[in-house]
Amino acid sequence: MPTQVLFENAEHKNVLLEDFTSGQMVQANQHVIVHQGKAMLLDPGGHKVYSGALAELSTIVSTSDLDYVFFSHQDPDIIAAANGWLMITEAQALLSNLWMRFIMHFGVDEMVADRIQAVPDDGMVLDLAGCQLLILPAHFLHSAGNFQIYDPVSKILYSGDLGASLGQTYTTVQNFDDHLQYMEGFHRRYIASGKTLKLWAKMVRQLDIEIIAPQHGAMLMGKEHVTRFIDWLDGLSCGIDIMDDVYKLPAA
Ligand code: FE
Repeated sequence: MPTQVLFENAEHKNVLLEDFTSGQMVQANQHVIVHQGKAMLLDPGGHKVYSGALAELSTIVSTSDLDYVFFSHQDPDIIAAANGWLMITEAQALLSNLWMRFIMHFGVDEMVADRIQAVPDDGMVLDLAGCQLLILPAHFLHSAGNFQIYDPVSKILYSGDLGASLGQTYTTVQNFDDHLQYMEGFHRRYIASGKTLKLWAKMVRQLDIEIIAPQHGAMLMGKEHVTRFIDWLDGLSCGIDIMDDVYKLPAA
């Protein structure tokens, strides 16, 4: 899929980068938020998408204007290329406090390690050249230390693994009911519990959201799809709620 501009005004721009995933690797989306010429890259991905994503990013902003790299959680499709991004830019990375010591196993050089900032469990407000981005807690959706970004200018909620869809061929959801089949399996097994989904739904209903942009698969656009998505998750049984039949000794 080619690069797609999701929002643009005189001082602000949101771009979904070209899809550089291939073969057997899980499809993953890389997003960029630009405000007053300064940028944040979200969930940049692993080694095989690194060079493509870097080249594409360079067509949007100079790498010296990349202020932040955001890691929603610790999975390899998000942080595996952390060292490369920190070596080639002056950006500050943001990662859950829970995963700070784990990310070092991906070969992060001691020289750049001090540019990874630990995000506390409560999340935070982050200033990108005057734009106040919200880093929202989304723990156990799916990772134990997990965050989402809400951009109040474009009204995009970058939802990380929440909203992930696998197997569809489109990048924007047209029919929500039809789309459920591509989201359901992932959410039932990877999302930890219905309780955390309810807490999340209560939190994000307070936001004015136009687009939900997940890290895998298609985006949900417009208030109707956004509301249907939140309502669906608000009532979903998943993760530990449906483990009763799985916890038994395997048959010989
Ligand atoms: Fe993940």
